[in-house]
Amino acid sequence: MHQKKIAIYGSTGSIGKQTLEVISAHPELFIAEILTAYSNDALLIEQALQFVPNIVVIGDITKYANVKKALEGKPIKVFAGEEALEQVAGMDCYDFMMAGIVGFAGLKPTLTAVRNGKTIGLANKETLVVAGDIVMREAKENKANIIPVDSEHSAIFQCLVGEAHNPIEKIILTASGGPFLGKKPNFLVNVKRDHALQHPNWSMGAKISIDSATLMNKGLEMIEAKWLFGLEPHQIKVVVHSQSIIHSMVQFEDGSIKAQMGLPDMKLPIQYAMAYPIRLANKFPRYLFDKPNQLSFDEPDVKTFRNLQLATDAMNRGGNAPCVLNAANEIAVYAFLKNRIGFLDMTELIERTLDKIAFIAHPTLDDYFETDGEARSFAASLIQL
Ligand code: NAD
Ligand code: MG
Repeated sequence: MHQKKIAIYGSTGSIGKQTLEVISAHPELFIAEILTAYSNDALLIEQALQFVPNIVVIGDITKYANVKKALEGKPIKVFAGEEALEQVAGMDCYDFMMAGIVGFAGLKPTLTAVRNGKTIGLANKETLVVAGDIVMREAKENKANIIPVDSEHSAIFQCLVGEAHNPIEKIILTASGGPFLGKKPNFLVNVKRDHALQHPNWSMGAKISIDSATLMNKGLEMIEAKWLFGLEPHQIKVVVHSQSIIHSMVQFEDGSIKAQMGLPDMKLPIQYAMAYPIRLANKFPRYLFDKPNQLSFDEPDVKTFRNLQLATDAMNRGGNAPCVLNAANEIAVYAFLKNRIGFLDMTELIERTLDKIAFIAHPTLDDYFETDGEARSFAASLIQL
């Protein structure tokens, strides 16, 4: 394998930092070529001084002068702003993009990398939730490989190696259930941000941690899986598996089910996407079968965790419905993180936004951007100042 030049979009985030750990562990295979972040200039500077990439981009232009000054005299180009994030994704100088930006903001740079024919490690699930039809079609046209990084989708991808001619009957997406598994609305109504941020099995960024607590994360992942693997909604089943050892499964037409297992550690799917199709030796802790252990499987409680039902309905409806769902959810999650609304208010806000925004059956890319803007303003207007 030749040394791959890696562009990390969102290098200061949970996925970004773990991608840098994988690069550090395999310097002969990977080199950090581009690092980007939105506002954490201090960490971006620290990373740039350590990894000396060709380019860094800071999304927040007010931080540009600071980053530029700190990297003076180093062979590192510094750019700033949303447009720069997109333009740099269109450059030739890198081989692989780790799409680790959170939210709708990841769509433009990821789509640019797709049009640029690059290989993309896709962590930013919102890109496919919003515009999966366009992104997957353009990936095919431009021979861009999209390799999933989300652990469930990486598991399915791994189960499909060697199965190109065998149609999928069904996929089984496993869900940990999050920190409030088994709880009921009378408990959830009083839940506060710090408790909701504490995931039992994974340590992740704030937005996905709240999505895991509400089960919206699993809803977004159903839509992500639909596009990645070309499935119909009825072929996607969600199962609660609180141990997070089986990362997901594929059922084939003979009824046989393949699962991918391991301890929950995002570095594994990150490294798998970066080195694909090679598996790299590592010292990550192993799952051991040396004591009695139970793996359990349950139906999700969609009556309590209604976000999962809303996401399922949006997936079934198609068109711009998942884009509305995503935009309203982003507004809801950040409002909850700022203690502006309660845990259960998030669902209501998303539901009301879905009812309000006009349905478009076959949206263009511009339609998706407009829908996103409209849904955000409407959802924001529902939050009392
Ligand atoms: P995070 O909040 O820890 O990091 C987000 C990164 O995106 C930061 O580097 C930030 O600077 C950047 N960013 C945020 N807003 C931006 C904007 N407007 N423009 C440019 N850059 C921006 O998030 P994370 O947990 O690393 O998650 C990143 C993505 O990966 C999400 O889509 C998430 O759903 C997905 N994912 C994460 C995990 C995980 O373990 N963290 C697992 C599976 C999937
Ligand atoms: Mg996941």
